[in-house]
Amino acid sequence: MASAWKADAATFWMQQSARLLWREAPTQAQAGDFTGTAHVTWFADGRLNPTESCLDRHAAARPDACALIWEGQDGRTIRLSWADLLQRVCRMANALREAGVAKGDRVALHLPAVVESVVAMLACARIGAVHMVLFGGFSAEGLADRLDDGTPVLVVTADEARRGAKIIPMKRTMDDALSRATGDSVRTVLVLAVTGADVPMTAGRDRALGPLLDGADTACAPAILAAEDPLFVLYTSGSTGKPKGLVHVAGGYMVWASLTHEVAFGCGSEDVFWCTADTSWITGHTYVVYGPLANGTTVLMYEGLPSWPTPGRWWDVIDRHGVTVFYTSPTAIRAMKAEGNDILEARGLDSLRVLGSVGEPIGEDAWTWFHDHVGKGRCPVVDTWWQTETGGIMIAPAAGAVAPRPGVATRPLPGVEAVLLDAAGVPVVGEGEGNLCLAASWPGQARTIWGSHDRFVATYFATYPGHYFTGDAARREADGYFRITGRVDDVVNVSGHRIGTAEIESAVMRGEGVVECAAIGVPHGLKGEGLVVFAVVQPGGAGEAALKALVADAIGRYAVPEAVYLVADLPKTRSGKIVRRLLRKIAAREIDALGDLSTLADPDAVGRIIAVVQGGG
Ligand code: ATP
Ligand code: MG
Repeated sequence: MASAWKADAATFWMQQSARLLWREAPTQAQAGDFTGTAHVTWFADGRLNPTESCLDRHAAARPDACALIWEGQDGRTIRLSWADLLQRVCRMANALREAGVAKGDRVALHLPAVVESVVAMLACARIGAVHMVLFGGFSAEGLADRLDDGTPVLVVTADEARRGAKIIPMKRTMDDALSRATGDSVRTVLVLAVTGADVPMTAGRDRALGPLLDGADTACAPAILAAEDPLFVLYTSGSTGKPKGLVHVAGGYMVWASLTHEVAFGCGSEDVFWCTADTSWITGHTYVVYGPLANGTTVLMYEGLPSWPTPGRWWDVIDRHGVTVFYTSPTAIRAMKAEGNDILEARGLDSLRVLGSVGEPIGEDAWTWFHDHVGKGRCPVVDTWWQTETGGIMIAPAAGAVAPRPGVATRPLPGVEAVLLDAAGVPVVGEGEGNLCLAASWPGQARTIWGSHDRFVATYFATYPGHYFTGDAARREADGYFRITGRVDDVVNVSGHRIGTAEIESAVMRGEGVVECAAIGVPHGLKGEGLVVFAVVQPGGAGEAALKALVADAIGRYAVPEAVYLVADLPKTRSGKIVRRLLRKIAAREIDALGDLSTLADPDAVGRIIAVVQGGG
């Protein structure tokens, strides 16, 4: 199947566009390309409203079938049929309209993992407003930056959120953010009661959302959008620097969400699909909301953490609701693996059919555990490589069509032209390593960076003219499979050997009791660059010497790290990715210039790591 689509790409794409319900079907696929200002359009003369594909057509065909199952961390469960979900979305859409939101306006959504987080996204789409979902755990500063960048007219927030035993004061943080923001675009703040706590309300600006929803009509005529009208703005995780607000559009993005959800996971309307991502990340947009709902798949949402109140909670959720496809991140997989297998063995997990991973290189060790213990050896593990910018999965072993291999993203999905280029822009042919680029557009690509098309062109299209540059490096193996080796910035050059940090990490992960680790390069007088590893190891587990020996065995003496620091935790973005740029600075003792820490989940972790490095390990 790999490249059958290429023979007649235009026909392939026109067929794929028929996945959606259009008010006016498009007559052309792609226009424009990656040269010049990289203005690309897809299905440009088509008109639609994405929620009619996600809701109305299923509500008409199977009104009582289950669209969404939500479980709260206290065990409360909500089941919504397609008819219910459509009604909830319409009420919210009417409430937004009533609050003065018009087509094209941005709406900031700042909500915990409750049903309304999905409903609010779809409600924006219903009226043609552009949602920008902001993570509930952002600091006031992080929120203020994004509010100033996206200039929403309205914010939907919650009184508070529950996170394990903690209460997150969402409204208070949003108030703080709004007073810090330099712009004054926000006219209205709607507050959803989640815990029911009393929160300060600013007269003339803040309104309780509940009563507005209760009074709203359950039908709402959809705004009809052009295929290229923006659907949402979403910020990247900020692993490499200041987050970028990518713009995705109503037509092409939806086609890509539907196609990739079906092809990567072999998913249809019989599945119960659980993607554990928060809706504030692209994974949550495409695989909690738009992809599965477009395909009529039952979506499962769980409010809480993997191991709260007790380890094994996520496994219980799978058993309780008969989850068939479980899509999560390496960071969650490593955390659950560290809890030991007893927890797992007490659960059936019989409903599972396919497993998926996204966000970082998964590594052979975590992959194998996921496959053998969670999937009991019978579920394919679909390691999906993609980015906020790509809108949906790009490289993955399409379930049932491509044989998976531990730690390898395998083959581009149909429609994806992945190429490897060397530093000079020369294609790497056959086996070898290079910078991962996309040689042609696909419908789900972001069209621009909000407010800065120049930055869009400079970031993605200037390095290799005519190509989209992903910023990641990959190796093509003998059989054509792609192995992602890490971000280009993370490839380390030791005495002339290019070493992907993912490879080093994969070796270190085999150490006794290693929970997670990160390898980075530091300047080295003789070798050019040397490797340094930061590892979180359980008590009694492997020490520095044992971990160095593992690297020597797996890769070679030349790759042995200069130092292995045993630390309590690693710096991570709020989407759970290890922030290697900070570790590079800390290891190089450049602690005065750590840069932007606002995307970190726990900024205090940085101080603890500095203490270990300065203490000499
Ligand atoms: P920023 O662009 O702001 O630095 P980010 O790149 O972490 O942040 P995302 O778009 O959330 O923001 O993440 C995409 C990146 O995550 C990819 O470019 C890649 O580095 C990494 N990634 C995602 N999935 C995989 C995977 N399956 N294997 C390896 N790396 C992955
Ligand atoms: Mg990125």
